[in-house]
Amino acid sequence: MARYIGPVCRLCRREGMKLFLKGERCHTEKCAIEKRNFPPGQHGKDRKPKIVGYGLQLREKQKARRYYQLLEGQFRNLFEKASATKGITGETMLNLLERRLDNVLYRAGFGTSRAQCRQLVRHGHVNVSGRRVDIPSYTVKADEVVEIREASKKNPTILHARDATAHAPSPNWLEVDRENLRARVLGQPKRDDLVQIQLNEQLIVELYSK
Ligand code: SF4
Repeated sequence: MARYIGPVCRLCRREGMKLFLKGERCHTEKCAIEKRNFPPGQHGKDRKPKIVGYGLQLREKQKARRYYQLLEGQFRNLFEKASATKGITGETMLNLLERRLDNVLYRAGFGTSRAQCRQLVRHGHVNVSGRRVDIPSYTVKADEVVEIREASKKNPTILHARDATAHAPSPNWLEVDRENLRARVLGQPKRDDLVQIQLNEQLIVELYSK
């Protein structure tokens, strides 16, 4: 599966906010947003564009897509799935994004970034309700248990990530057993439990509905 492999801090600088793409570094003073919070590029510092209308919608979509580290096609497909589901499309879309397997691991604190969690899944370190799942986009359902496989529970990278994320609270929709590297999805995430960043999902819906 294709993925973005360019520099990630410039994505945060483009959106003007922390998107937490780099793991531990995001919580230190080395974070590029702390040091250079202006758009990337030669004239980034001088440009102060007024963004309205389509531009606003586009920025909101890019922000969400980059935050969850998806490519345009993957994000669009997820939107289509949300709009074909009953309920408020924007909320459904965020709900689906949050319940992606790589995101559930990240929220549980078993990896320091979504990219790292995605790799854990891809490399076969993760079970869902006792079955190995190596598809990061797998949608975890209520009552399913996501667990680091027994053989990987002593993996130093995973243990380090668990310790490094000990300060981060788990969301209400997830019951996390950090000791045993296990997490259970309690139910559907509510809008208030979703995303750590400010996001107006309605603008994304408007953009894709044109
Ligand atoms: Fe880089 Fe993380 Fe800071 Fe974003 S939040 S600029 S990814 S260090």
